[in-house]
Order: sequence, then C-alpha cells, then structure tokens
Amino acid sequence: MRRYLQLLLAAVVLLTVAGFASSAYAQEREIDPNMDRGDRTLPQDSEILPKVIHRINLRGADSFDKVGSEVSATGFAAPTGGTGTVGPLRYHNGPLMNTPVVYIVFYGNWNQTNGSDTAAGQQLIRDYLHNVGGSPYFRLNSTLAASGQPISGNVTYGGDTTDTGSLGLSLSDTSVLTAITNSISAGKLPNDPNGVYFLISATNVAETSGFCSQYCGFHTASNTGVGHIRWSFVGNANRCLNGCAVQTTSPNGNAGIDATISVISHELAETVTDPDAGNGWFSRSGAENGDLCNFTFGHAQFQTSNGSFANLTVGGKNYLVQRLILHTSTNDHCMMSSTQN
Ligand SMILES: [Zn+2]
Repeated sequence: MRRYLQLLLAAVVLLTVAGFASSAYAQEREIDPNMDRGDRTLPQDSEILPKVIHRINLRGADSFDKVGSEVSATGFAAPTGGTGTVGPLRYHNGPLMNTPVVYIVFYGNWNQTNGSDTAAGQQLIRDYLHNVGGSPYFRLNSTLAASGQPISGNVTYGGDTTDTGSLGLSLSDTSVLTAITNSISAGKLPNDPNGVYFLISATNVAETSGFCSQYCGFHTASNTGVGHIRWSFVGNANRCLNGCAVQTTSPNGNAGIDATISVISHELAETVTDPDAGNGWFSRSGAENGDLCNFTFGHAQFQTSNGSFANLTVGGKNYLVQRLILHTSTNDHCMMSSTQN
C-alpha cells in the first residue's frame, strides 16, 4: 500500500511535469504530435504498476511525408520524424535487461478469414522476433546500458501459446495479466526471470483500458503468484488501422500485423531499457525510449514491390518499424542504426 501511495504521488508529479513540459515544448519548437509525450498512466488496479502506453497514431494511417528523392523514389515516405535531439532519457538506477526472452500468448481467434488474424500473421511476428536481435537497429538499445547493467542488443524467442478467449473477449489490464500468469501456471510457457511476456490479441478482442482509443500497446511489470513478471499487451492493429498503423498496404501484405510488429518493437525496447516501468530510462516528462520516437520511421525508407514503405530487413523480410533511441553521453536521437537517422 505504501508503495502504491508512493507510485500515486509519483504519477501525479509526473502528470504535472508532463503537462508543463509539453506546453513549454510546444512554444519552443514544432513537434510531431506523436512525440515527446509523457506516456505514464495511473494503474487501473492497485496490484499493477503504472503502465507505460504506446500512444495511438494521431496523424492517422496513410498520412505520408513529402520527402527528398534520397528517401523514396516516389518523393513520399511514412512519417520520417526529425533529426534533432529528443528527450533526453535519464537513468534512474533500476534494473535493465541484457537479453530478453520473449514469450507470447496469442489471445482470441487467430483462425479468421480477414487476412490478418491467421497462422501466417502469427508466423510474421515469430520471424521478426527470431531475427531482430543483434541487428544494428536493435543494438541501439545497447547504448542505454549502465554500470553493471549490460544490454546485449540480442533477443531470444522463447515460444508462444494460444488462448482462444478463456477470460472473454473484452479484457481489462488485470485479465491480460491473469491470462499470462495462467499460461505460466499451466506450464504452457516457462517461468523465466529473463522473460518478457506479451499478450497479443486478435482483432475480435477488446482491451477496455484504451486499446485503439488511447494506445496501441503498453508494458509494465507486476508481482504475481508466479513471481515478478515483465509483461506487455499489444493488440492486432487490424482492429484500428487508422489509430495503430501508418499504412494500410504493408511490406508483408498484412497491414494489421506489420503495424503490430512496430508496436512490439517499441514495447520490447522499452522493456529492455525500463523493465519495471519506472526506475530505468525515461525522460523528465515520463517518456521512455520508444515514446520519444513514436510513429517515426526515419530517412532510409524504401518501397517494397506492393508500394508499401519499409525501413528494416531482417531474416529476409522487410518491415516498417519505428525508430529507437541512440544514446550518447551528451544527447539522444531517434535512429534506425548508429549511423542512420
Ligand atoms: Zn512507449
């Protein structure tokens, strides 16, 4: 309870600071509406730590930037975002994750005929998580290592399980956590202290704390009956492409899942660099790694054969994933690699 009161107080302070900071920033410089948000929210339930949400795309899908010919043959690209400094992120002396082991509960109906909630869609997510570790993109996270807290930039895919709807098709934050811990208790997923547990919901599932209206995903940590769990909710963006995707034609022909992969990337990077959602790396306004670069895709985009934009190729597949922070001793930038902004 005392911890809850401390967290409540901290949240109030953060919200106040965030409000002040955002109005101050708005006067100083023009910013992308998706960036520099203090994305911390009060817990819905007292046993859940404050969660850090991945804000929806305020520009809407298929809002492309006019860019120079060095970026795209068409003169357009998905929102590039700026090249200036952001944040900065500050380290709050808590734990970081060296190499996360990702586990997934695929929740809801993943055998639909909508071209998105499919076995092939699940496999796209697995393929991404199998291959993104060690890439120049994900190794950006290594720049946020701290003394005694290395970050490898690697990712291990630990496996997945399915739950077609044991807790209904309208989930609260508590039921997301319960579905995850039930999967661990039942032995469907291992209990791994290096685990990051994602519940990825199909299009037929609602998350009532704000999926599609406020956020596309969130991450947090909780002390549960099966131990201290780092976990994240991400819904199939197919439920609200306008809010959670940037393009409705996508590199792998599944706009919902391709957009979901960018949200997963955001949440995974944040879990590595602020695993307990409040004592790792975040800015003075409460924004974490991914929040500062939310829905920005950089200046090395290319068009795939179906005309969609991509900015990363791993494991032989193209993806459009948002940028992450490159941290130096003096400043922070949103980047796709240590040299590509
Ligand atoms: Zn975030």
